[in-house]
Amino acid sequence: MSAIRSASTFFGCETLNRVSFLREDVEFVKSTLTHGSTTFVPFLGGEALSLNGSLYQIQLDDSPSLLQPLLHKLLPLVNTPAGRAHSSGVNLTFLGLKQGEEAREGVFVYRSQYKGTPYYGIDFRVDSETIIKPQDIVALTKMTPLNRQEVFEMNNEEASLYSHAKMYLDWLSKYNFCPGCGSPMYPLDAGTKLKCSNLNSQVNCQVRDARVTNVCFPRTDPVVIVAIASRDFSKICLARSKRKHTDTIMYSTIAGFMEPAETVENACRREIWEETGIRCDDVAMVTSQPWPYPVNLMIGCLGIVDANGINEVITLTHDEELLDAQWFSTEDVSKALDDYNGNGMVHFKDSIRLPGSTAVAFHLIKHVCDKYKRRQGSL
Ligand SMILES: [Zn+2]
Repeated sequence: MSAIRSASTFFGCETLNRVSFLREDVEFVKSTLTHGSTTFVPFLGGEALSLNGSLYQIQLDDSPSLLQPLLHKLLPLVNTPAGRAHSSGVNLTFLGLKQGEEAREGVFVYRSQYKGTPYYGIDFRVDSETIIKPQDIVALTKMTPLNRQEVFEMNNEEASLYSHAKMYLDWLSKYNFCPGCGSPMYPLDAGTKLKCSNLNSQVNCQVRDARVTNVCFPRTDPVVIVAIASRDFSKICLARSKRKHTDTIMYSTIAGFMEPAETVENACRREIWEETGIRCDDVAMVTSQPWPYPVNLMIGCLGIVDANGINEVITLTHDEELLDAQWFSTEDVSKALDDYNGNGMVHFKDSIRLPGSTAVAFHLIKHVCDKYKRRQGSL
């Protein structure tokens, strides 16, 4: 496996064992919610909190005066309709058990084999009507929300924990009503599924009465992002978006949302043709990246173009999303990446910038450069 394939993209570092099969075990959920080591990543109204630029996390044993009274109120609500944030004031989601801690003294253990600090995301949406009250979380309301720059300056482990919690909590906060009948939904399985609360069998509900499954699962929106290279990797096509048009002149890869009934490869071919007019048959996946703004999965691919005087011709007039697209010399792009120190964007020629290492586009561009260098015998 190449270095790019084995390395985690930013937001893609999995340090928790999600033990997804244990989420439906109420005894497991309740025992994690009462263990002293259990660590919560608190959010207020959907925003994580900053402690000197880091992701604020609270351990039960370290903040019993804050957490014990909250958990005392929340434990009876597990898997009940009152567990929904409109009633409780809280969205709670189990993230997993920290890996690599099996030998630590006092570590949480379940059924003698599942070990590690339990992690939860918890998003407070309190008011005077909710079970958790504003006065229960005064200490948190004095803190500062985490800003996006702080997120991108974190190490990958911390950023990935943030991303994991944010994507579940974002889903829980938005999907309040059943898409089948409009009844309120409430969280099951430690905040990883939502169930329709409609018990009236006279009222039709496509979700509750579905033959295969009667719950709603978290949503992830897949996006294809593709680097376009010539067959010999000596040229790479990069584009400047109209949407991201700022003072910075940024050239990057092509990206777009996947559509229903589309393969990853077909979505890449469609996006490439719609945006650049280039015809590309040969598409392969390279890497992927969760992207928590709000709940995307970036599926990073490589598209190889066989130049024949037609396939490689750039036309920006189909959906007119791009300000410009150009074939650049991979040699020049490689030199820019070689000089990159890992911070911010990559300085390319003149005032052109390329995406930095927190973006999957960087890894796709690097993938093309590495392929080119390998062919040149310099890697
Ligand atoms: Zn329903």
